[in-house]
Amino acid sequence: MAEDGTKEDQRDAQRGLKCRHCGCRHFRVVYTRAARGGKLVRRALEKTLGLQRKTYRIRVAGVDNLYQTLRQLYNVNEDPHGPSPHLGFGFAIGADHTIVYRIDGGEGTVAHELVHVIVFNQLPTTPTWFEEALASNFEEYRIENGEIAGLFRLDHWRMNFMRENQQEAGPFDIDSLPPIGDIARRNQRLVMMFKEEAPVRETTFSFPELDQVTAKMFVMFLQEKGKLRSVVHALGHQDLESRFETQLTTIRESVGDDYERQWRIWLDRKLRQAGAKTIFTENRIRK
Ligand SMILES: [Zn+2]
Repeated sequence: MAEDGTKEDQRDAQRGLKCRHCGCRHFRVVYTRAARGGKLVRRALEKTLGLQRKTYRIRVAGVDNLYQTLRQLYNVNEDPHGPSPHLGFGFAIGADHTIVYRIDGGEGTVAHELVHVIVFNQLPTTPTWFEEALASNFEEYRIENGEIAGLFRLDHWRMNFMRENQQEAGPFDIDSLPPIGDIARRNQRLVMMFKEEAPVRETTFSFPELDQVTAKMFVMFLQEKGKLRSVVHALGHQDLESRFETQLTTIRESVGDDYERQWRIWLDRKLRQAGAKTIFTENRIRK
């Protein structure tokens, strides 16, 4: 950046992440076009989810090393009880309105992390499993008429967890997918375990990959059926600490008692339309 930087340069410098210890701004903050587009994605998310336009600013920073950034910015030490160094592609600090993503990970991460910031600030009681599903649904997206929709792609890396034996060419095994109720229950147990035993646990919160891709597909189903908004609002504004049974009642009220059957039939059709083979026994559906 030139010493007598242009206005644009100055603005970029001001957007940079400031180290809270020494005030330096030596993080490599790169506002790629994708990150600038983050503003558009944010509006699209808010519109799609039926949320009021909020004016708080969200900072989006692309960095080389997520863990180093987390450590320096938020004083997180390399402590076995702290966040895992395997942070994936990005993280969001909702209270700070900040998103940090790995530059080599691409723009999909920005959309994913934006969901976390929006949920934290505007849909505070969303259960973790649903929040993560919502975020992963928009990792790949298209924007139409200002609204955002997740893309359905057979060779997306998450989809392999859904295949028989997790082989790339294998059929998609719908029978083996966990019921949404199991995911919600497992997730509640994990969250509680994490809260109660956090000081003695060596691993941080984890969300099994099969649960994650299943929940992601469920979110996509909700959106295609026009039910996403009502479910998001119900889950995002419940009593705090709502139990998973309440979450399921909410889903039943929006989608119907047979939601488990509905979404699997949808997924089977969707996969076959895309040319995939499936393993699906309709009468084996559990609730
Ligand atoms: Zn996430």
